[in-house]
Amino acid sequence: MKEITAGIDIGGTNTKFGIVDKNGVVLSQSSISTQGYEEFDDFLHQLSHELKAALTSLGENHRLLGIGVGAANGNYYKGTIEHATNLRWKGIIPLADMLTREFNVPALVTNDANAAAVGEMVFGAAKDLKDFIVITLGTGLGSGIVSNGQLVNGKHGIAGELGHTTVNYAGRYCNCGKRGCLETYVSATGIKRSVYKLLADHLEPSELRGISFDNLNTKMITEAALRGDLVAQEAFEYTGRILGTKLAETVVHTDPEAIFLFGGLSLAGDLIFKPTIKHMEANLMPIFRGKVKVLPSKLQNQAAPILGASSLVWDFLEKRGKVTA
Ligand SMILES: [Zn+2]
Repeated sequence: MKEITAGIDIGGTNTKFGIVDKNGVVLSQSSISTQGYEEFDDFLHQLSHELKAALTSLGENHRLLGIGVGAANGNYYKGTIEHATNLRWKGIIPLADMLTREFNVPALVTNDANAAAVGEMVFGAAKDLKDFIVITLGTGLGSGIVSNGQLVNGKHGIAGELGHTTVNYAGRYCNCGKRGCLETYVSATGIKRSVYKLLADHLEPSELRGISFDNLNTKMITEAALRGDLVAQEAFEYTGRILGTKLAETVVHTDPEAIFLFGGLSLAGDLIFKPTIKHMEANLMPIFRGKVKVLPSKLQNQAAPILGASSLVWDFLEKRGKVTA
């Protein structure tokens, strides 16, 4: 019998799902629309139908051990998705219970950034680390904190919302209802907002000047910066300064060995890593200097969200001695 787990990543637009073995090999993967289902029950019905078909196609010598789910506002303790702003289904969805009823295996739910952190620990660059932080840079900024080998969930299952710590109390308005949150500066949306501010401040020519806000993306800013565009370069320096300064504060809580940057903005390489590391080091309490690495995630591929979600199950079973890793 080959032991397998399923990973489901519920994003605002699409839901990716796949089947993963103990070595992190994705045996099958697919996706369905998240937005296309008005009723959650219809969505779950379709997802279950397709996942069961994928399991059947692997043959009878495979045994499903559990299902992991990464979703915005996923709550690990309750196995629920609660009041997710990026989904059309409102209220509290008891997803883990529903999946367990459907598949008769344990189901675990957490937010997507926490899933990314466990994924990094089980399959990625944090395999041998016990204290680290994963920062996911997408439309927003998520973070998962691992301390002493354990994901920090907190009392209510919502620990590690670094994206909504404040960098400027009179700063940019945030979707969460506050002002000046880190993610309003450091995210795909944040750097776009910075480009627009810099375009207003500067007189230099910039290839970004004629691009509408909706059409602008991180890749365009990255390519412009590499071609020497001053506004684009300044946008990365500004973003890295805010991130690095925040990371310098963040390390005092858990004394991590490394901080991994995942997704979107992190693919800009040195453009984002150099100013982040420079400003983190400059602002670190002296006893931490030179001790905390800032590195790219090793799960930078299409299957990363599936690996992250499925890793919840492997981590859960390993810590309970149900599998030998
Ligand atoms: Zn916020």
